[in-house]
Amino acid sequence: MYSRKDFLKTSIAGLVPVSFSGILKPKKFTGTKPVVISTWKTAKNANKAAWSVLSKGGYALDAVEKGVKVEEANPKNSTVGYGGRPDRDGNVTLDACVMDEKGDCGSVMYLENMMHPVSVARKVMTDTPHSILVGAGAKKFALESGFKEEDLLTEESKKAWKKWLEKEDYNPEINVENHDTIGMLALDEKGRISGACTTSGAAWKMNGRVGDSPIIGSGLFIDPKIGGAVATGLGEEVIKTAGSHLVVEMMRAGHSPEEACKIAVERIIERNPDNKKGIQVAYIALNVDGAFGGYSIQDGFDAVVTNTDGQRVQPMNFLV
Ligand code: ASP
Repeated sequence: MYSRKDFLKTSIAGLVPVSFSGILKPKKFTGTKPVVISTWKTAKNANKAAWSVLSKGGYALDAVEKGVKVEEANPKNSTVGYGGRPDRDGNVTLDACVMDEKGDCGSVMYLENMMHPVSVARKVMTDTPHSILVGAGAKKFALESGFKEEDLLTEESKKAWKKWLEKEDYNPEINVENHDTIGMLALDEKGRISGACTTSGAAWKMNGRVGDSPIIGSGLFIDPKIGGAVATGLGEEVIKTAGSHLVVEMMRAGHSPEEACKIAVERIIERNPDNKKGIQVAYIALNVDGAFGGYSIQDGFDAVVTNTDGQRVQPMNFLV
């Protein structure tokens, strides 16, 4: 007999592949493990560092922390950590978070003078009963935890900021091309999944502005049973759609990582039908079986993927 339970099953099944018997049988998307995937092709060295942990059977959370720290310390990366462009008042303020295979998380926002906000975020997760610390409190905690204060405004950043001041055109820049926030997802040999996201945010932002990157569910989300996602691009739009959480929920509903990312960028365009060309947001996703994918609004987004087959830059499909 066709029960209410069957009805529910077939209703939900409208969203996902279903077997002839009407039993919900989402397609399983699988890959290999260990694997690490990061936003933007600039993450090659970051992935190498993460792979040095994963390839020895190490822990996914250690891998993502070690990986993104490479870019945090890279003065040439103008959107993350040291060398990150300042806000309109000349302050480099950093946002970062981590999330692990248990769904635990730690985040810092508006953190100044710390080279490795991702490590402070991990400490928030492991050494405090809280999930988020911001501003002066986050800095105090970092200093108490043994992190050292450092000046993160490089000469090059100072020069770029001074140039911007000449016009003071208040239009915080999110680079559409190829070097933004680093978001990284890793699955280790034991099947543990973790993620990290770290950024200096939008260049010339208002003092105090925090983007999506350190916000759990926006810039990063991990569901221990499903997988994870990270975002890059215009943070305000990611926040308004709880983007990374949406991607993970779409994977839960049976979509592949790529489809899930596509649905999340479509959601942004639904909200902004007249500004398709003006916004760039991209997601990458990795499920707990090692399948991964990504999608962006505009052309030009890619990811670095490293697994037992080696390392490659993978251009992602896009909407507009
Ligand atoms: N999502 C970041 C933010 O809005 C910026 C970026 O990805 O470049 O702060």
